Amino acid sequence: MAIAEWRQKLIQGELSSLELVDEHISRIKKIDQKLHAFLLVNEEKARATAKKIDEARASGESLPSLAGIPIAIKDNLCTKGIKTTCSSKMLENFVAPYESTVTKRLWEAGGLLVGKTNLDEFAMGSSTETSAFGATLNPWNIKRVPGGSSGGSAAAVAAGLCVAALGSDTGGSIRQPASFCGVVGMKPTYGRVSRWGLVAFASSLDQVGPFTSCVSDAAEILQVIAGKDPKDSTCLDSPLPDFSELFTKPIQGLRIGLIKECFHQEGLNKEVKESVLNAAKKLESLGAEIIELSCPRFNDGIETYYVIAPSEASANLARYDGVKYGFRYEGEESLASMTAITRAKGFGNEVQRRILIGTYALSAGYFDAYYKKAQKVRTLISRDFKNAFKKVDLLLTPTSPTTAFHSGAHDDDPLAMYLSDLLTIPANLAGLPAISLPCGFDHLGLPIGLQLIGNVLEESRLLQVAYHYEQEANVMNKHPEGDFIRS
Ligand code: GLN
Repeated sequence: MAIAEWRQKLIQGELSSLELVDEHISRIKKIDQKLHAFLLVNEEKARATAKKIDEARASGESLPSLAGIPIAIKDNLCTKGIKTTCSSKMLENFVAPYESTVTKRLWEAGGLLVGKTNLDEFAMGSSTETSAFGATLNPWNIKRVPGGSSGGSAAAVAAGLCVAALGSDTGGSIRQPASFCGVVGMKPTYGRVSRWGLVAFASSLDQVGPFTSCVSDAAEILQVIAGKDPKDSTCLDSPLPDFSELFTKPIQGLRIGLIKECFHQEGLNKEVKESVLNAAKKLESLGAEIIELSCPRFNDGIETYYVIAPSEASANLARYDGVKYGFRYEGEESLASMTAITRAKGFGNEVQRRILIGTYALSAGYFDAYYKKAQKVRTLISRDFKNAFKKVDLLLTPTSPTTAFHSGAHDDDPLAMYLSDLLTIPANLAGLPAISLPCGFDHLGLPIGLQLIGNVLEESRLLQVAYHYEQEANVMNKHPEGDFIRS
């Protein structure tokens, strides 16, 4: 059910907030031993807050938009008084002394924190397998990964363990897991949403966004979390539209671009391609004009990202030194060896790999050859998009070249894992808003995701087209029904 439907039931008294929370928490208890979407379940506090909301409602108070709605939060967003681990041994016992702006806004809007969700360590990965606390599994097929890095949030929404969730997207970490788990996932324009209290991975790319079961819910959550924040100097001071304002407007005459380079990939799964092209036809039948165009630098996104993101990560992760935060390896006499062993034992392999690559790319002799060059290519990629948006209103691609892959499939091959973000990374490099929504299933019954990329600050346009597609295609009424969900 959509948030609006839950809200209606709550307002009409068909259901109390406490009942709604209890329903979700008992589902988590039943199902999550198998999925491992959650690292922490916030049972007592969620129930206590739900009771307060019920009392307020009973006394006739008018309540904000998300009052009583159970929401899960990726465990790289700081929640005051509750652990924030980033799925890393480094922060295993870290309790943030402050609340992130996005979560603060959700709680002010009446949302209830049901729990913190699993992720790839420090959001580095595409499968949620690099979590130091064990992988999350895909609710559609538990032999498969849920995608990543926000795999816990995606799996939680797909399995009905919460109504909505937040994730973060640096190179695709909201959209790719949304696509693997058959839910809606949105990355807003860079700067649309505050990063205050989001543990930094690559600061020029990171954005927080929603996971929901339908497009109108994505608009609702975005409405609450978006907007200027004096605590984040990169957060934009632009007027906030009503993100659902265009839902009632037909998409007649809108121009939608198919990026040639995306559809001629070697690694693009046939069923994914077919399903996404069918979605384009559907949009055409709704009156949109489909235009094929070229973004020549699109496929350079991966190489560019894997220089820039590790470079920024190597700087951001320097703060975990055994002194300021979290884990510290005891017993060493010198500060230097304490720090070195703390970092070697506190970070997992993937995080160490990124720190090494980043440090190398930023070092004096290589800076120009790698980092500076990557920044130049980043500009070229943005320029391609600028040119594309002179011809079309938005762009359409598959979200990921494949459906959910087997757990362990890329264990020995980090490069193969990196390729799963081929189609999502360019939007991060250019700071553009993008959304993934389900558009079909492969022959194994695994969800396929469609990506729409919009021009800067045009979230309303993206949501409009996504909404019309969702209404027309009706893919969303299917749900995962593995044995572990029925049991
Ligand atoms: N999978 C990509 C990476 O490993 C993107 C991660 C993200 O968006 N946080 O870096």
